[in-house]
Amino acid sequence: MSNENCLFCKILAGDIPADVVYESDSAIAFRDINPQAPTHVVIIPRKHIATINDIDPDDQQVVGSLFTAAREIARTEGHAEAGYRVAMNCNESAGQTVFHIHLHLLGGRSFSWPPG
Ligand code: AMP
Ligand code: ZN
Repeated sequence: MSNENCLFCKILAGDIPADVVYESDSAIAFRDINPQAPTHVVIIPRKHIATINDIDPDDQQVVGSLFTAAREIARTEGHAEAGYRVAMNCNESAGQTVFHIHLHLLGGRSFSWPPG
């Protein structure tokens, strides 16, 4: 399930420290090391899935759990009413740098559209 070369699998294993803000059976979330907003949390599945392209039909519950986490974190961080953004990058053109799928949850400021 885990990938020994994957940074986020190392965080899951406790080998690299992280500021964890949420945990469930299938997902965990921690503060981004290079925040792009006052709140910037990275939400990852416990299962190693490299990119959106690698999600298979059996992963639906796992992927859905990332949004359950986002909803809960937005509430606890105080952004549910004002609004917030969730984003997932896939591969090079979108700027994916860690190949273990993750939802970015950004809040605490206004966001423009379309994104850069
Ligand atoms: P992406 O570019 O969409 O793949 O996002 C990867 C994110 O992981 C970036 O926002 C990084 O700042 C973040 N990141 C990288 N290393 C760490 C770490 N050790 N702890 C927390 N966040 C990290
Ligand atoms: Zn991984």
